Parts: sequence; structure tokens; C-alpha cells
Amino acid sequence: MRCSHRDSGKDWFPRLDNKISSPHPVCGGCGAVKNIGDRGKKLGYYVNTLYEIKEYLEERKKGKITEAQVRLITKRLEKVEGFEDVYWFRRSTQKDIFVEAVNRYTGLSPSFIESFLAS
Ligand SMILES: [Zn+2]
Repeated sequence: MRCSHRDSGKDWFPRLDNKISSPHPVCGGCGAVKNIGDRGKKLGYYVNTLYEIKEYLEERKKGKITEAQVRLITKRLEKVEGFEDVYWFRRSTQKDIFVEAVNRYTGLSPSFIESFLAS
């Protein structure tokens, strides 16, 4: 069973080779360190982004994303275990997964897809 994570009240301080020195909360269940700053977003954010791309294409008659494609992409994201887990998933990792999924089902270029995601 996957850990549902709870704050242990303890912090982990990254040191050495990075500039981050702020404390990161640690899960009392499995010891995972929470991502701060690069925190993942909920699935809904990516679904909204997908609709933004869909509208953009349709308004400019540059292409089309069908509802069936939206469903396939959403399903694919839902299947990624822990996608919405803010302890594990960095936004940059989610971004890669999202771009891969949209590219796979629509053939749109990764850089075009990425331009819709806030950095
Ligand atoms: Zn945990």
C-alpha cells in the first residue's frame, strides 16, 4: 500500500551541493521529503491546460483535439501512480509526463505543449 504521507514535524535540511538551505518537511510514515517550491499540481490543472490547448487550436483552425483524445490523455495521467502526490512528484516531472501524454495522442510538438504550462 502506498504511504498517504503525514508530516512528522521533523525537517530535513539539504546541504552540500545545492543552494537550498530551507527545511523540508519529512513524512513520518515513509521518510519521503516534501518538495518545496517545485510542488506538483493537481490533475485538474493539467486537464484545464489540455482544454486551453484545444481551444487555442480550434480558434486558430490549426488543428483539433477530440474529446476522445482528451479522455485518453486524462486516463493516461490518472494511471500514473502518485501523480498528484505532492511529496513525490515535482512539477517538472509532472510536466514531462503531461507533455509525453499529449504528444503521444495528438502528435503536437513538445515545445508547443510546454508553452501552455506555467514554468
Ligand atoms: Zn509517506
